[in-house]
Amino acid sequence: MRYLKLAELYDAVSSTTKRLEKIKILSDFLKHLDASDREVLYLLLGNIYPDYDERKIGISSQLAIKAISKATGTEKEKVVKEWKSVGDLGKVAEKLTKSKKQHTLESHVLTTEKVLENLRKLPALEGKGTIDKKISLITELLTSASPIEALYLVRTLIGDLRIGIQVSTIRESMANAFFKDEKEGAKKVQEAIDKSNDVASVFDIVKRGKMNELGKVKIEIGKPIKAMLAQKAKNVKEGFDAVGRPCAIEYKYDGFRLIIHKKGNQIILFTRRLENVTKQFPEVADFIRKYVKADSAILDSEAVGFDKKTKEYKPFQSISQRIRRKYDIEKLREELPVEINVFDILYYNGKSLLNEPFKKRTELIRKIIEPHPYKIIHSKQIITDDEKKAEEFYKKALKDNQEGVMMKNLEAEYNPGSRVGHMLKIKPEERDFDLVITGGEYGTGKRSGWISSFIISCLDKNKNKFLEIGKVGTGFKEKTEEGVSFDELTKKIKPLIIEEKGKNVKIKPKIVISVTYQEIQKSPTYSSGFALRFPRFTALRPDRSPSDVATLKEIEKDFENQKRNWKYG
Ligand code: AMP
Repeated sequence: MRYLKLAELYDAVSSTTKRLEKIKILSDFLKHLDASDREVLYLLLGNIYPDYDERKIGISSQLAIKAISKATGTEKEKVVKEWKSVGDLGKVAEKLTKSKKQHTLESHVLTTEKVLENLRKLPALEGKGTIDKKISLITELLTSASPIEALYLVRTLIGDLRIGIQVSTIRESMANAFFKDEKEGAKKVQEAIDKSNDVASVFDIVKRGKMNELGKVKIEIGKPIKAMLAQKAKNVKEGFDAVGRPCAIEYKYDGFRLIIHKKGNQIILFTRRLENVTKQFPEVADFIRKYVKADSAILDSEAVGFDKKTKEYKPFQSISQRIRRKYDIEKLREELPVEINVFDILYYNGKSLLNEPFKKRTELIRKIIEPHPYKIIHSKQIITDDEKKAEEFYKKALKDNQEGVMMKNLEAEYNPGSRVGHMLKIKPEERDFDLVITGGEYGTGKRSGWISSFIISCLDKNKNKFLEIGKVGTGFKEKTEEGVSFDELTKKIKPLIIEEKGKNVKIKPKIVISVTYQEIQKSPTYSSGFALRFPRFTALRPDRSPSDVATLKEIEKDFENQKRNWKYG
Protein backbone atom coordinates (compact mmCIF):
# COMPACT_ATOMS: atom_id res chain seq x y z
CA MET A 1 0.00 0.00 0.00
CA ARG A 2 1.19 3.54 -0.67
CA TYR A 3 2.42 5.26 2.47
CA LEU A 4 0.72 8.40 1.16
CA LYS A 5 -2.67 6.79 1.73
CA LEU A 6 -1.79 6.18 5.36
CA ALA A 7 -0.42 9.72 5.77
CA GLU A 8 -3.69 11.08 4.40
CA LEU A 9 -5.59 8.94 6.88
CA TYR A 10 -3.46 10.29 9.76
CA ASP A 11 -4.28 13.78 8.53
CA ALA A 12 -8.02 13.13 8.29
CA VAL A 13 -8.14 11.55 11.76
CA SER A 14 -6.23 14.41 13.35
CA SER A 15 -8.42 17.02 11.67
CA THR A 16 -11.13 16.30 14.25
CA THR A 17 -10.98 16.06 18.02
CA LYS A 18 -14.32 14.26 18.17
CA ARG A 19 -13.94 10.60 19.02
CA LEU A 20 -17.00 9.50 17.03
CA GLU A 21 -15.76 11.27 13.90
CA LYS A 22 -12.36 9.66 14.27
CA ILE A 23 -14.06 6.27 14.55
CA LYS A 24 -16.13 6.92 11.42
CA ILE A 25 -13.05 7.88 9.37
CA LEU A 26 -11.09 4.89 10.61
CA SER A 27 -14.03 2.54 10.10
CA ASP A 28 -14.27 3.58 6.41
CA PHE A 29 -10.55 2.98 6.04
CA LEU A 30 -10.74 -0.49 7.63
CA LYS A 31 -13.65 -1.51 5.40
CA HIS A 32 -11.43 -0.99 2.38
CA LEU A 33 -8.22 -2.27 3.90
CA ASP A 34 -7.09 -5.58 2.44
CA ALA A 35 -6.35 -8.35 4.94
CA SER A 36 -2.89 -8.59 3.35
CA ASP A 37 -2.22 -4.99 4.43
CA ARG A 38 -3.18 -5.71 8.04
CA GLU A 39 0.24 -4.77 9.44
CA VAL A 40 -0.62 -1.16 8.67
CA LEU A 41 -2.55 -1.35 11.94
CA TYR A 42 0.75 -1.47 13.83
CA LEU A 43 1.76 1.78 12.15
CA LEU A 44 -1.58 3.32 13.06
CA LEU A 45 -0.68 2.80 16.70
CA GLY A 46 2.82 4.14 16.15
CA ASN A 47 4.32 0.64 16.38
CA ILE A 48 6.05 -1.79 14.03
CA TYR A 49 5.12 -5.07 15.70
CA PRO A 50 2.23 -6.34 17.84
CA ASP A 51 1.90 -4.87 21.30
CA TYR A 52 3.43 -7.92 23.00
CA ASP A 53 6.63 -7.62 20.98
CA GLU A 54 9.41 -5.78 22.73
CA ARG A 55 11.04 -4.46 19.59
CA LYS A 56 10.12 -0.78 19.45
CA ILE A 57 11.36 1.97 17.13
CA GLY A 58 13.10 3.95 19.88
CA ILE A 59 14.59 6.87 17.95
CA SER A 60 15.49 10.04 19.88
CA SER A 61 14.71 13.50 18.55
CA GLN A 62 18.47 14.11 18.23
CA LEU A 63 18.91 11.19 15.83
CA ALA A 64 15.84 12.15 13.83
CA ILE A 65 17.27 15.67 13.50
CA LYS A 66 20.44 14.25 11.95
CA ALA A 67 18.42 12.22 9.44
CA ILE A 68 16.22 15.18 8.51
CA SER A 69 19.33 17.28 8.01
CA LYS A 70 20.84 14.67 5.71
CA ALA A 71 17.69 13.91 3.74
CA THR A 72 16.79 17.52 3.10
CA GLY A 73 20.30 18.86 2.74
CA THR A 74 19.75 21.32 5.58
CA GLU A 75 22.39 22.26 8.17
CA LYS A 76 21.76 20.45 11.46
CA GLU A 77 21.79 23.78 13.34
CA LYS A 78 19.01 25.08 11.13
CA VAL A 79 16.86 21.99 11.81
CA VAL A 80 17.37 22.47 15.55
CA LYS A 81 16.50 26.18 15.28
CA GLU A 82 13.30 25.39 13.39
CA TRP A 83 12.44 22.71 15.94
CA LYS A 84 12.83 25.15 18.83
CA SER A 85 10.54 27.65 17.14
CA VAL A 86 7.92 25.26 15.68
CA GLY A 87 7.99 22.69 18.50
CA ASP A 88 6.92 19.75 16.34
CA LEU A 89 9.78 17.94 14.63
CA GLY A 90 7.34 16.36 12.17
CA LYS A 91 6.23 19.81 11.00
CA VAL A 92 9.88 20.79 10.59
CA ALA A 93 10.48 17.77 8.35
CA GLU A 94 7.37 18.62 6.34
CA LYS A 95 8.48 22.20 5.79
CA LEU A 96 12.06 21.33 4.86
CA THR A 97 10.92 18.54 2.52
CA LYS A 98 8.58 20.98 0.80
CA SER A 99 11.33 23.49 0.08
CA LYS A 100 13.72 20.77 -1.05
CA LYS A 101 11.19 19.17 -3.39
CA GLN A 102 10.88 22.44 -5.27
CA HIS A 103 14.50 21.98 -6.35
CA THR A 104 14.68 18.27 -7.05
CA LEU A 105 12.60 15.94 -9.13
CA GLU A 106 13.06 12.78 -7.13
CA SER A 107 9.80 10.90 -6.85
CA HIS A 108 10.07 7.35 -5.55
CA VAL A 109 6.86 5.85 -4.41
CA LEU A 110 7.03 5.11 -0.70
CA THR A 111 5.07 2.04 0.41
CA THR A 112 3.99 0.95 3.89
CA GLU A 113 5.93 -2.28 3.29
CA LYS A 114 9.14 -0.34 2.72
CA VAL A 115 8.51 1.84 5.77
CA LEU A 116 7.96 -1.25 7.94
CA GLU A 117 10.98 -2.99 6.42
CA ASN A 118 13.35 -0.14 7.28
CA LEU A 119 11.85 0.67 10.66
CA ARG A 120 12.02 -3.00 11.66
CA LYS A 121 15.75 -3.03 11.05
CA LEU A 122 16.26 -0.29 13.67
CA PRO A 123 15.77 -2.18 16.95
CA ALA A 124 18.01 -5.04 15.81
CA LEU A 125 21.06 -2.82 15.26
CA GLU A 126 23.82 -3.06 17.82
CA GLY A 127 27.48 -2.24 18.28
CA LYS A 128 29.84 -0.16 16.19
CA GLY A 129 28.41 2.08 13.52
CA THR A 130 24.86 1.64 14.78
CA ILE A 131 24.04 5.34 14.71
CA ASP A 132 25.20 5.78 11.12
CA LYS A 133 23.26 2.73 10.00
CA LYS A 134 20.14 4.00 11.72
CA ILE A 135 20.50 7.42 10.12
CA SER A 136 20.93 5.90 6.69
CA LEU A 137 17.84 3.67 7.03
CA ILE A 138 15.77 6.68 8.04
CA THR A 139 17.29 8.96 5.43
CA GLU A 140 16.42 6.47 2.72
CA LEU A 141 12.75 6.75 3.70
CA LEU A 142 12.81 10.51 4.09
CA THR A 143 14.35 11.14 0.69
CA SER A 144 11.48 9.29 -0.98
CA ALA A 145 8.87 11.01 1.16
CA SER A 146 6.51 13.78 0.10
CA PRO A 147 6.08 16.59 2.66
CA ILE A 148 3.03 15.06 4.34
CA GLU A 149 4.71 11.64 4.41
CA ALA A 150 7.80 13.19 6.00
CA LEU A 151 5.60 14.78 8.68
CA TYR A 152 4.14 11.44 9.81
CA LEU A 153 7.30 9.44 9.29
CA VAL A 154 9.21 11.67 11.68
CA ARG A 155 6.41 11.69 14.23
CA THR A 156 6.33 7.88 14.04
CA LEU A 157 10.08 7.70 14.53
CA ILE A 158 10.11 9.78 17.68
CA GLY A 159 6.96 8.12 19.02
CA ASP A 160 4.68 11.15 18.95
CA LEU A 161 2.03 10.63 16.25
CA ARG A 162 -0.46 13.13 17.71
CA ILE A 163 -3.47 11.67 15.92
CA GLY A 164 -5.38 10.40 18.95
CA ILE A 165 -5.69 6.76 17.89
CA GLN A 166 -5.32 4.04 20.48
CA VAL A 167 -6.26 0.39 20.65
CA SER A 168 -9.70 1.41 21.92
CA THR A 169 -10.30 3.56 18.81
CA ILE A 170 -9.32 0.66 16.57
CA ARG A 171 -11.60 -1.66 18.51
CA GLU A 172 -14.59 0.69 18.13
CA SER A 173 -13.82 1.23 14.44
CA MET A 174 -13.64 -2.50 13.71
CA ALA A 175 -16.98 -2.96 15.47
CA ASN A 176 -18.48 -0.07 13.51
CA ALA A 177 -17.19 -1.40 10.20
CA PHE A 178 -17.98 -5.09 10.54
CA PHE A 179 -20.64 -5.75 13.19
CA LYS A 180 -24.38 -5.13 13.21
CA ASP A 181 -24.43 -5.02 17.02
CA GLU A 182 -21.57 -2.60 17.60
CA LYS A 183 -21.49 -2.88 21.38
CA GLU A 184 -21.31 -6.67 21.36
CA GLY A 185 -18.77 -6.52 18.51
CA ALA A 186 -16.51 -4.13 20.41
CA LYS A 187 -16.62 -6.44 23.42
CA LYS A 188 -15.65 -9.48 21.37
CA VAL A 189 -12.88 -7.62 19.57
CA GLN A 190 -11.48 -6.34 22.87
CA GLU A 191 -11.47 -9.81 24.41
CA ALA A 192 -9.58 -11.17 21.42
CA ILE A 193 -7.08 -8.30 21.59
CA ASP A 194 -6.56 -8.80 25.33
CA LYS A 195 -5.67 -12.44 24.78
CA SER A 196 -3.51 -12.02 21.70
CA ASN A 197 -2.25 -8.43 22.08
CA ASP A 198 -2.16 -8.30 18.30
CA VAL A 199 -4.60 -5.94 16.56
CA ALA A 200 -3.55 -7.10 13.09
CA SER A 201 -4.34 -10.77 13.71
CA VAL A 202 -7.71 -9.82 15.21
CA PHE A 203 -8.43 -7.61 12.17
CA ASP A 204 -7.62 -10.58 9.96
CA ILE A 205 -10.28 -12.72 11.66
CA VAL A 206 -12.89 -9.95 11.50
CA LYS A 207 -12.10 -9.10 7.88
CA ARG A 208 -12.53 -12.73 6.85
CA GLY A 209 -16.00 -12.57 8.44
CA LYS A 210 -15.10 -15.30 10.94
CA MET A 211 -16.63 -13.57 13.94
CA ASN A 212 -17.07 -16.79 15.92
CA GLU A 213 -13.31 -17.35 15.69
CA LEU A 214 -12.81 -14.28 17.88
CA GLY A 215 -13.98 -16.17 20.95
CA LYS A 216 -11.57 -18.98 20.12
CA VAL A 217 -8.43 -16.84 20.13
CA LYS A 218 -6.14 -18.78 22.41
CA ILE A 219 -3.64 -17.69 24.99
CA GLU A 220 -0.22 -19.10 24.27
CA ILE A 221 2.71 -20.03 26.44
CA GLY A 222 5.54 -17.59 25.84
CA LYS A 223 3.31 -14.78 24.57
CA PRO A 224 2.46 -12.22 27.23
CA ILE A 225 -1.16 -11.79 28.30
CA LYS A 226 -2.70 -8.69 29.85
CA ALA A 227 -3.36 -9.07 33.54
CA MET A 228 -6.85 -8.91 34.99
CA LEU A 229 -7.25 -5.71 37.03
CA ALA A 230 -9.29 -4.94 40.11
CA GLN A 231 -11.86 -2.29 40.98
CA LYS A 232 -11.91 -0.51 44.33
CA ALA A 233 -14.19 -0.99 47.33
CA LYS A 234 -14.26 1.24 50.41
CA ASN A 235 -14.51 -1.49 53.03
CA VAL A 236 -15.14 -5.20 53.44
CA LYS A 237 -18.89 -4.72 53.67
CA GLU A 238 -19.01 -3.00 50.29
CA GLY A 239 -16.68 -5.75 49.04
CA PHE A 240 -19.04 -8.53 50.14
CA ASP A 241 -22.01 -6.72 48.59
CA ALA A 242 -20.21 -6.61 45.25
CA VAL A 243 -18.56 -10.03 45.00
CA GLY A 244 -21.09 -12.08 46.98
CA ARG A 245 -20.84 -14.35 50.03
CA PRO A 246 -18.84 -16.40 50.70
CA CYS A 247 -15.83 -15.07 48.80
CA ALA A 248 -12.09 -15.45 48.83
CA ILE A 249 -10.14 -12.77 50.66
CA GLU A 250 -6.42 -12.52 50.06
CA TYR A 251 -3.53 -10.33 51.12
CA LYS A 252 -2.97 -7.48 48.69
CA TYR A 253 0.79 -7.67 48.52
CA ASP A 254 2.83 -4.53 47.93
CA GLY A 255 5.13 -5.68 45.16
CA PHE A 256 4.82 -5.95 41.43
CA ARG A 257 2.77 -8.17 39.17
CA LEU A 258 4.64 -11.06 37.62
CA ILE A 259 3.00 -13.39 35.11
CA ILE A 260 4.99 -16.56 34.89
CA HIS A 261 5.03 -18.91 31.90
CA LYS A 262 6.38 -22.45 32.29
CA LYS A 263 6.91 -24.87 29.46
CA GLY A 264 8.91 -27.82 30.68
CA ASN A 265 12.06 -26.31 32.11
CA GLN A 266 11.74 -23.12 30.14
CA ILE A 267 10.50 -20.21 32.26
CA ILE A 268 9.51 -16.75 31.02
CA LEU A 269 8.54 -13.86 33.28
CA PHE A 270 6.43 -10.91 32.16
CA THR A 271 5.44 -7.69 33.92
CA ARG A 272 2.02 -6.16 33.71
CA ARG A 273 3.24 -3.95 30.86
CA LEU A 274 4.13 -7.14 28.94
CA GLU A 275 7.87 -6.70 29.36
CA ASN A 276 10.02 -9.80 29.51
CA VAL A 277 12.02 -9.65 32.77
CA THR A 278 13.23 -13.26 32.88
CA LYS A 279 16.92 -12.30 32.91
CA GLN A 280 16.48 -9.97 35.87
CA PHE A 281 15.05 -12.71 38.14
CA PRO A 282 17.07 -15.90 37.69
CA GLU A 283 16.12 -17.15 41.16
CA VAL A 284 12.40 -17.02 40.33
CA ALA A 285 12.94 -19.34 37.37
CA ASP A 286 14.69 -21.74 39.76
CA PHE A 287 11.78 -21.67 42.24
CA ILE A 288 9.31 -22.43 39.47
CA ARG A 289 11.36 -25.31 38.10
CA LYS A 290 11.75 -26.80 41.56
CA TYR A 291 8.39 -26.21 43.20
CA VAL A 292 5.73 -26.08 40.48
CA LYS A 293 4.48 -29.46 39.37
CA ALA A 294 3.27 -28.88 35.82
CA ASP A 295 4.46 -29.63 32.31
CA SER A 296 3.13 -26.29 31.26
CA ALA A 297 1.47 -23.46 33.18
CA ILE A 298 0.81 -19.73 33.28
CA LEU A 299 0.73 -18.33 36.82
CA ASP A 300 -0.36 -14.90 37.99
CA SER A 301 1.54 -13.60 41.00
CA GLU A 302 2.94 -10.69 42.96
CA ALA A 303 6.69 -10.53 43.60
CA VAL A 304 7.34 -8.97 47.01
CA GLY A 305 10.62 -7.76 48.44
CA PHE A 306 11.74 -8.69 51.95
CA ASP A 307 14.65 -7.86 54.19
CA LYS A 308 17.23 -10.60 53.90
CA LYS A 309 18.11 -10.42 57.61
CA THR A 310 14.86 -9.64 59.44
CA LYS A 311 12.67 -11.30 56.76
CA GLU A 312 10.25 -8.39 57.03
CA TYR A 313 8.32 -7.49 53.88
CA LYS A 314 9.49 -4.27 52.22
CA PRO A 315 7.49 -1.77 50.15
CA PHE A 316 7.62 -1.92 46.37
CA GLN A 317 9.96 1.03 45.90
CA SER A 318 12.79 -0.73 47.69
CA ILE A 319 12.95 -3.44 45.01
CA SER A 320 11.78 -1.51 41.93
CA GLN A 321 15.33 -1.25 40.60
CA ARG A 322 15.45 -5.00 40.04
CA ILE A 323 12.93 -4.72 37.20
CA ARG A 324 15.08 -2.62 34.89
CA ARG A 325 18.65 -3.42 35.90
CA LYS A 326 20.56 -5.34 33.25
CA TYR A 327 23.85 -5.62 35.18
CA ASP A 328 24.89 -6.72 38.70
CA ILE A 329 22.00 -9.15 38.59
CA GLU A 330 23.62 -11.67 40.93
CA LYS A 331 24.46 -8.97 43.47
CA LEU A 332 20.94 -7.53 43.42
CA ARG A 333 19.47 -11.00 43.74
CA GLU A 334 21.39 -11.39 47.02
CA GLU A 335 20.62 -7.91 48.32
CA LEU A 336 17.03 -7.50 47.26
CA PRO A 337 15.41 -10.92 47.41
CA VAL A 338 11.80 -11.40 46.35
CA GLU A 339 9.13 -13.89 47.34
CA ILE A 340 6.59 -15.00 44.75
CA ASN A 341 2.99 -14.99 45.95
CA VAL A 342 0.90 -16.94 43.48
CA PHE A 343 -2.78 -15.99 43.38
CA ASP A 344 -4.05 -17.29 40.05
CA ILE A 345 -3.43 -19.80 37.27
CA LEU A 346 -4.53 -19.21 33.67
CA TYR A 347 -3.18 -22.25 31.89
CA TYR A 348 -2.27 -25.76 32.95
CA ASN A 349 -0.85 -28.72 31.02
CA GLY A 350 -1.92 -27.56 27.58
CA LYS A 351 -5.31 -26.13 28.54
CA SER A 352 -6.57 -22.60 29.08
CA LEU A 353 -8.29 -22.10 32.44
CA LEU A 354 -9.67 -18.63 31.68
CA ASN A 355 -13.25 -19.87 31.73
CA GLU A 356 -12.89 -22.03 34.84
CA PRO A 357 -14.28 -20.62 38.13
CA PHE A 358 -11.77 -18.92 40.44
CA LYS A 359 -12.45 -21.51 43.15
CA LYS A 360 -11.18 -24.29 40.91
CA ARG A 361 -8.16 -22.28 39.80
CA THR A 362 -7.15 -21.38 43.34
CA GLU A 363 -7.51 -25.03 44.43
CA LEU A 364 -5.26 -26.11 41.60
CA ILE A 365 -2.56 -23.67 42.78
CA ARG A 366 -2.61 -25.36 46.15
CA LYS A 367 -2.30 -28.75 44.51
CA ILE A 368 0.59 -28.10 42.16
CA ILE A 369 2.74 -25.58 44.02
CA GLU A 370 4.78 -26.71 46.98
CA PRO A 371 5.05 -23.60 49.18
CA HIS A 372 8.48 -22.49 50.36
CA PRO A 373 8.35 -19.24 52.36
CA TYR A 374 10.66 -16.50 51.06
CA LYS A 375 10.79 -18.29 47.72
CA ILE A 376 7.34 -19.13 46.42
CA ILE A 377 4.06 -19.39 48.32
CA HIS A 378 0.33 -19.43 47.72
CA SER A 379 -1.15 -16.00 48.44
CA LYS A 380 -2.54 -15.92 51.97
CA GLN A 381 -6.25 -16.55 51.62
CA ILE A 382 -9.40 -17.18 53.62
CA ILE A 383 -12.79 -18.14 52.27
CA THR A 384 -15.53 -16.67 54.42
CA ASP A 385 -18.93 -14.97 54.54
CA ASP A 386 -18.23 -13.42 57.93
CA GLU A 387 -17.57 -9.68 58.09
CA LYS A 388 -15.74 -9.90 61.42
CA LYS A 389 -13.33 -12.54 60.15
CA ALA A 390 -12.78 -10.47 57.02
CA GLU A 391 -11.98 -7.36 59.10
CA GLU A 392 -9.50 -9.31 61.21
CA PHE A 393 -7.79 -10.66 58.13
CA TYR A 394 -7.60 -7.14 56.66
CA LYS A 395 -5.96 -5.82 59.86
CA LYS A 396 -3.49 -8.69 59.81
CA ALA A 397 -2.51 -7.89 56.23
CA LEU A 398 -1.80 -4.26 57.18
CA LYS A 399 0.21 -5.35 60.22
CA ASP A 400 2.25 -7.58 57.91
CA ASN A 401 3.26 -4.46 55.91
CA GLN A 402 0.97 -5.25 53.00
CA GLU A 403 -1.36 -2.80 51.28
CA GLY A 404 -4.71 -4.30 52.20
CA VAL A 405 -6.83 -7.15 50.87
CA MET A 406 -8.39 -8.36 47.63
CA MET A 407 -11.91 -9.81 47.67
CA LYS A 408 -12.70 -12.28 44.90
CA ASN A 409 -15.88 -13.90 43.65
CA LEU A 410 -15.43 -17.66 43.79
CA GLU A 411 -17.25 -18.39 40.54
CA ALA A 412 -15.64 -15.72 38.35
CA GLU A 413 -13.68 -16.28 35.15
CA TYR A 414 -10.32 -14.69 34.41
CA ASN A 415 -10.75 -11.72 32.05
CA PRO A 416 -7.37 -10.59 30.68
CA GLY A 417 -6.99 -6.81 30.49
CA SER A 418 -10.32 -5.98 32.12
CA ARG A 419 -10.83 -4.02 35.33
CA VAL A 420 -13.45 -6.36 36.71
CA GLY A 421 -16.14 -5.97 39.35
CA HIS A 422 -15.64 -9.51 40.65
CA MET A 423 -12.18 -8.81 42.10
CA LEU A 424 -11.95 -5.82 44.42
CA LYS A 425 -9.10 -4.15 46.24
CA ILE A 426 -9.52 -2.64 49.65
CA LYS A 427 -6.86 -0.46 51.16
CA PRO A 428 -6.78 2.38 53.68
CA GLU A 429 -7.58 5.82 52.29
CA GLU A 430 -4.22 6.91 50.97
CA ARG A 431 -3.85 9.93 48.86
CA ASP A 432 -1.74 8.66 46.05
CA PHE A 433 -1.93 8.23 42.30
CA ASP A 434 0.14 6.62 39.59
CA LEU A 435 0.76 9.33 36.98
CA VAL A 436 2.87 9.72 33.87
CA ILE A 437 5.58 12.32 33.32
CA THR A 438 4.78 14.39 30.22
CA GLY A 439 7.20 17.28 30.62
CA GLY A 440 9.67 19.06 32.80
CA GLU A 441 11.69 22.13 33.56
CA TYR A 442 15.46 22.44 33.88
CA GLY A 443 16.62 23.66 37.28
CA THR A 444 18.92 26.53 38.18
CA GLY A 445 21.83 27.00 40.58
CA LYS A 446 23.11 23.70 41.94
CA ARG A 447 20.40 21.91 39.99
CA SER A 448 21.28 23.39 36.62
CA GLY A 449 21.79 20.71 33.99
CA TRP A 450 19.12 18.59 35.63
CA ILE A 451 15.41 18.59 35.05
CA SER A 452 14.23 19.37 38.56
CA SER A 453 10.50 19.76 38.19
CA PHE A 454 8.31 17.25 36.38
CA ILE A 455 4.92 17.75 34.80
CA ILE A 456 2.63 14.88 35.74
CA SER A 457 -0.49 13.82 33.85
CA CYS A 458 -3.52 11.60 34.20
CA LEU A 459 -5.38 9.83 31.38
CA ASP A 460 -8.62 11.04 29.86
CA LYS A 461 -9.97 7.74 28.56
CA ASN A 462 -12.73 9.33 26.49
CA LYS A 463 -10.40 11.56 24.57
CA ASN A 464 -7.44 9.18 24.65
CA LYS A 465 -5.29 12.00 25.92
CA PHE A 466 -2.96 12.66 28.81
CA LEU A 467 -3.98 15.74 30.78
CA GLU A 468 -1.70 17.66 33.11
CA ILE A 469 -2.51 17.70 36.80
CA GLY A 470 0.51 19.31 38.40
CA LYS A 471 4.23 19.60 38.79
CA VAL A 472 6.32 17.57 41.20
CA GLY A 473 9.82 18.43 42.40
CA THR A 474 9.98 16.90 45.88
CA GLY A 475 10.71 13.36 46.95
CA PHE A 476 13.72 13.10 44.62
CA LYS A 477 17.28 12.87 45.90
CA GLU A 478 20.38 14.86 45.06
CA LYS A 479 22.45 11.67 44.95
CA THR A 480 21.54 8.40 43.23
CA GLU A 481 22.75 6.28 46.16
CA GLU A 482 19.98 7.68 48.33
CA GLY A 483 17.08 6.93 46.02
CA VAL A 484 15.76 8.24 42.71
CA SER A 485 17.87 11.31 41.87
CA PHE A 486 17.30 14.27 39.56
CA ASP A 487 20.34 13.18 37.59
CA GLU A 488 19.00 9.66 37.05
CA LEU A 489 15.58 10.88 35.99
CA THR A 490 17.04 13.55 33.70
CA LYS A 491 19.05 10.83 31.94
CA LYS A 492 15.90 8.76 31.47
CA ILE A 493 13.98 11.73 30.13
CA LYS A 494 16.48 13.16 27.64
CA PRO A 495 15.93 10.56 24.88
CA LEU A 496 12.18 11.05 25.25
CA ILE A 497 12.14 14.79 24.54
CA ILE A 498 9.81 15.76 21.72
CA GLU A 499 9.68 19.51 22.22
CA GLU A 500 12.10 21.93 23.80
CA LYS A 501 11.43 25.58 24.54
CA GLY A 502 13.80 27.53 26.79
CA LYS A 503 13.98 25.61 30.07
CA ASN A 504 10.84 23.64 29.33
CA VAL A 505 10.61 20.26 27.66
CA LYS A 506 7.73 18.11 26.54
CA ILE A 507 8.37 14.38 26.58
CA LYS A 508 6.82 11.17 25.31
CA PRO A 509 4.50 9.75 27.96
CA LYS A 510 6.51 6.69 29.02
CA ILE A 511 7.65 7.08 32.63
CA VAL A 512 5.08 6.18 35.27
CA ILE A 513 5.60 7.35 38.86
CA SER A 514 3.66 7.14 42.13
CA VAL A 515 2.86 10.49 43.71
CA THR A 516 1.29 11.30 47.08
CA TYR A 517 -0.56 14.57 47.70
CA GLN A 518 -2.55 16.37 50.35
CA GLU A 519 -5.57 17.42 48.41
CA ILE A 520 -7.08 17.71 44.94
CA GLN A 521 -8.11 21.23 43.88
CA LYS A 522 -9.92 22.61 40.86
CA SER A 523 -7.44 24.56 38.78
CA PRO A 524 -7.45 26.38 35.47
CA THR A 525 -3.64 26.06 35.27
CA TYR A 526 -3.59 22.45 34.13
CA SER A 527 -5.39 20.84 31.22
CA SER A 528 -7.16 18.28 33.46
CA GLY A 529 -8.87 21.15 35.30
CA PHE A 530 -7.42 19.83 38.57
CA ALA A 531 -4.21 20.32 40.51
CA LEU A 532 -2.63 18.22 43.24
CA ARG A 533 -1.66 20.17 46.35
CA PHE A 534 1.79 19.33 47.74
CA PRO A 535 2.55 16.45 45.39
CA ARG A 536 5.49 14.30 46.39
CA PHE A 537 7.26 11.60 44.37
CA THR A 538 7.41 8.20 46.07
CA ALA A 539 8.44 5.62 43.46
CA LEU A 540 9.25 4.88 39.84
CA ARG A 541 6.83 2.29 38.45
CA PRO A 542 8.75 0.58 35.66
CA ASP A 543 6.26 -2.29 35.88
CA ARG A 544 3.31 -0.12 34.84
CA SER A 545 2.47 1.36 31.49
CA PRO A 546 1.09 4.84 30.78
CA SER A 547 -2.31 3.33 30.04
CA ASP A 548 -2.41 2.16 33.68
CA VAL A 549 -2.20 5.64 35.24
CA ALA A 550 -5.03 7.32 37.16
CA THR A 551 -7.88 8.33 34.90
CA LEU A 552 -9.59 11.72 34.88
CA LYS A 553 -12.76 9.96 36.03
CA GLU A 554 -11.00 8.51 39.09
CA ILE A 555 -9.62 11.94 39.93
CA GLU A 556 -13.06 13.54 39.59
CA LYS A 557 -14.49 10.82 41.84
CA ASP A 558 -11.80 11.30 44.50
CA PHE A 559 -12.35 15.07 44.32
CA GLU A 560 -16.07 14.57 44.97
CA ASN A 561 -15.36 12.12 47.84
CA GLN A 562 -12.99 14.60 49.37
CA LYS A 563 -15.73 17.25 49.30
CA ARG A 564 -18.16 14.86 50.93
CA ASN A 565 -15.67 14.08 53.67
CA TRP A 566 -15.24 17.77 54.38
CA LYS A 567 -18.96 18.13 54.75
CA TYR A 568 -19.47 15.20 57.06
CA GLY A 569 -16.03 14.42 58.36
P1 AMP B 1 -3.67 -1.62 42.20
O1 AMP B 1 -2.28 -1.67 41.74
O2 AMP B 1 -3.89 -0.74 43.40
O3 AMP B 1 -4.64 -1.37 41.07
O4 AMP B 1 -4.03 -3.09 42.73
C1 AMP B 1 -4.04 -4.22 41.93
C2 AMP B 1 -2.72 -4.95 42.01
O5 AMP B 1 -2.52 -5.57 43.26
C3 AMP B 1 -2.59 -6.08 41.04
O6 AMP B 1 -2.27 -5.65 39.75
C4 AMP B 1 -1.49 -6.93 41.66
O7 AMP B 1 -0.23 -6.49 41.15
C5 AMP B 1 -1.55 -6.60 43.12
N1 AMP B 1 -1.90 -7.75 44.00
C6 AMP B 1 -1.30 -7.99 45.19
N2 AMP B 1 -1.82 -9.06 45.79
C7 AMP B 1 -2.79 -9.56 44.98
C8 AMP B 1 -3.69 -10.67 45.07
N3 AMP B 1 -3.72 -11.49 46.12
N4 AMP B 1 -4.55 -10.85 44.03
C9 AMP B 1 -4.55 -10.01 42.96
N5 AMP B 1 -3.71 -8.96 42.84
C10 AMP B 1 -2.84 -8.72 43.83
